[in-house]
Amino acid sequence: MKAGLTLVLASGNAHKAEEFRALVSASGLAVTIATAKEFGGMPAVEEDTGTFAGNARKKARALRERLAGNPAWILADDSGLCVEALGGEPGVESAYYAGAVGDAAANRRKLLESLRAVPEGKRQAYFYCLLFLLGPDGAERLHEGRCDGRLIGAERGSGGFGYDSLFVPDGFDRTLAELTSDEKNRISHRGRAWRSLVAAL
Ligand code: IMP
Repeated sequence: MKAGLTLVLASGNAHKAEEFRALVSASGLAVTIATAKEFGGMPAVEEDTGTFAGNARKKARALRERLAGNPAWILADDSGLCVEALGGEPGVESAYYAGAVGDAAANRRKLLESLRAVPEGKRQAYFYCLLFLLGPDGAERLHEGRCDGRLIGAERGSGGFGYDSLFVPDGFDRTLAELTSDEKNRISHRGRAWRSLVAAL
């Protein structure tokens, strides 16, 4: 990746921006993460394509329209939690599993409710992240990352966001919300997708 590059994040999620800034810093690159907020806010995008890649592409293109005339690099992240016993749900609908977009506490309550009848040994799940990089010339690059683990029956920890307090990654006995941000970034779906993107540029 070229030195001195600014990536504008096509997201209104402050937690994602924080994670990307830590990932950039850990990778030692001269990259600045700017947020859509600094350019008038992230336009409302209906995440209705049914795929992580389709939704990420939609977010990136919506932000490009808003930035019309500004030759920026845009980075979109579409991510979610896929639970095997629930047939992959909430998946692409993770952000609005319980209805309202962004009500993370309600989403966690609904997930716990859905898992009540699922025995402990059958609670495998994974986080998935699709990163979509849109260049000023319209060039597109897609990179993915995945983090496998299992879900527990009651929340633990106060770090991270979303479903972190219910997810214990493979090889750990703490939830993502109990890991330091460095620990999470080393193994997370977002961290893996980011390093895959960096390696390819
Ligand atoms: P979207 O990519 O904006 O559609 O939202 C992704 C949703 O997936 C978030 O709102 C969270 O509910 C969930 N999610 C994605 N990544 C993470 C993570 O790293 N930790 C916990 N929840 C996540």
